[in-house]
Amino acid sequence: MNLNSSLGLVKGVGEKTLEKLEIVNLRTIGDILEFFPRKYEDFASLTSLSEIKPGKVLFKAYAEKVSMRRVRRGMTITEAILTDGKDKIKAIWFNQPYRVKQLQDEEEFFFSGKYEFNYNRYQITNPSLMKREELPKNQNFSGKDGEIVPIYLQKKGLKTETIRKILAELKPMMKILPETLPEIIVRKEKLISRAQAIEWVHFPGSAEEFNLALERLAFDEIFELILAAKLNKIENEQLHGYNIEPKIQDVRQFVEKLPFDLTQSQRLASWEIMQNMSQDFPMNRLLQGDVGSGKTTVAAIAALNAVKNGYQVAVFAPTEILAQQLAENFSKTLAWCGISIGFLSGKVKGKARKTLFENLKNGNLDILVGTSAIIQEKVEFSNLGLVIIDEQHRFGVAQRQKILEKSHQKMPHLLAMTATPIPRSLQLTLFGDLGISILKEKPEGRKPVQTEIISPASRAPMNARIRAEVLNGRQVFVIVPAIQEGKNEEIKSVEAEFKRLKRDFKEFRILQLHGKKKSEEKEQIMADFLAKKADILLSTTVIEVGINVPNASVIVIENADRFGLAQLHQLRGRVGRGGGGGGDAFCYLVMSSNAKPPQRLQEISKTNDGFILAEKDLELRGAGEIYGKSQSGEINLEFASIGDTKMISRAQSAVDFLFENQKDWQEYLREKPKSLEKYQRLTLLN
Ligand code: ADP
Ligand code: MG
Repeated sequence: MNLNSSLGLVKGVGEKTLEKLEIVNLRTIGDILEFFPRKYEDFASLTSLSEIKPGKVLFKAYAEKVSMRRVRRGMTITEAILTDGKDKIKAIWFNQPYRVKQLQDEEEFFFSGKYEFNYNRYQITNPSLMKREELPKNQNFSGKDGEIVPIYLQKKGLKTETIRKILAELKPMMKILPETLPEIIVRKEKLISRAQAIEWVHFPGSAEEFNLALERLAFDEIFELILAAKLNKIENEQLHGYNIEPKIQDVRQFVEKLPFDLTQSQRLASWEIMQNMSQDFPMNRLLQGDVGSGKTTVAAIAALNAVKNGYQVAVFAPTEILAQQLAENFSKTLAWCGISIGFLSGKVKGKARKTLFENLKNGNLDILVGTSAIIQEKVEFSNLGLVIIDEQHRFGVAQRQKILEKSHQKMPHLLAMTATPIPRSLQLTLFGDLGISILKEKPEGRKPVQTEIISPASRAPMNARIRAEVLNGRQVFVIVPAIQEGKNEEIKSVEAEFKRLKRDFKEFRILQLHGKKKSEEKEQIMADFLAKKADILLSTTVIEVGINVPNASVIVIENADRFGLAQLHQLRGRVGRGGGGGGDAFCYLVMSSNAKPPQRLQEISKTNDGFILAEKDLELRGAGEIYGKSQSGEINLEFASIGDTKMISRAQSAVDFLFENQKDWQEYLREKPKSLEKYQRLTLLN
């Protein structure tokens, strides 16, 4: 048997088990050795019911009374009184009707969960259950330090005990797991071997061993992420790019004609971009700035600089309307500089399309702004030198690669713009060695959006504000999480809210928008709203991306407690973008219930600074949600926390150290682990 052998060779694994393992992608011995626990139960926290305290608890008990009832729309509530023979507590499960049968066997279980004040009393909600037989046999589970039990993903009949049994059979084989870090790094950082770490995460002998194992595996993840970013940079620098010189004179003229002064950040970013484009290798830069920080102006400067060097520029936006807004903005500011600007989307057809293509091919057109139609079509440039992507998160990796292929000889420069603020620690790991320009401050005179948390019972002042703003000629967004009415009445839907708004605001014109509508229809609705054909736009979060409706002054977010911080901030950015009638802007975060608002709502009502909020979000929630899922792949760190700055700086200096020792570095690169490739794709912009 080796790491590639089928799990069918393991003692006790039959056909049925093999099928279940297959469902979670476990086929080989190597697969299961690296199938890490979903969580751990630490029996050091075992408590008796007489000493139970609020917080995370683990105790042994059996159920005395079990009952189940159905509440509205198919929801079930299972309740039980748990006792250890002396004391009692109440447990409650939502939508887990199978608990009834499980509990009625009168058996003893270890219960694990959070003991907290809920629904007017202390109780434990949705605790998980473990039978003694399901736990490893060789320990007592009496509450001693070091009794740490791994719990594996349970899915489609695959049980934690099954995984545990197979792993126990394979324990001797863990020794042959290969080392993935360079030896000099393992020594320098005084880390345990990877083989040892994997053995200990599956079979933690003591708290100390366990912690060493977690440390080692977390280090691996951060180290590889940082290394991947470095490799990307090195590979990028080996590509040939166009030498685009800073045209200081032209840029100065352009800036002087703008109706406003550039902010300090806009100046710095423009300068960084121009420097970057004058190097021999292609620029790979991210321009980050909150909504309304003025990214488009910086992009226009970059475009101007490329055109004045004789190159063409392609500018992408994720939707038709955004592309149109960009094209208009560029035309307004750049056309008088003698620059020609074209627009392409699926809607540009026939002769207009043909002429556009010809002009592009023979070099008569300087800048092409458009949707992804630019990639899908057989668009040919005469000499594409710069690609600008607005809201890069909406583009997939493959799409970006295609854009770059439009340039014949060399790699064009790339400038990606995003309004999603990336916290510092993420910048270091994900883009450590790529260029990032940040627009820190907003243009002067911009007022912050006044943000208020609303309890569902007290909507009156909010409604009064909506009325006043609409009567004043302004427009309102109302955001809900769902499209149709569902089981949970608390969750607002476009369907239900439309009826309510019709009732509450009889005289106002209301449009509805959601992701199930065809994209052409969606575009039309947005265009109508932009053209002030409605007062209120009721929508799901599809309006999140950078659409500019300068006339909108109020955004209402229903079920705000169901949204993440970053998303709320993005949504709020739809109003108060300036450029319109000035005036104040308002954001109302409406709670689902009268419960206490979660901390993130309080944070967002305190500040309008996206970067501060991004840091907070990372602190409150971890990285996956903020960055991972919106990116085409997933970061999916199992052990490390991407906000762990100590670990990041430690791994950073280890990467530098390895790079300085060229012999070890080269050797490592020859056999680099597979995970590194995945991270390299993640940390790449193009
Ligand atoms: P975003 O970063 O969200 O893309 P935009 O580039 O669309 O922001 O800019 C928002 C608005 O601010 C536009 O109307 C733009 O003309 C204006 N603007 C940009 N820079 C400045 C500045 N330095 N001072 C005043 N207004 C500015
Ligand atoms: Mg923008």
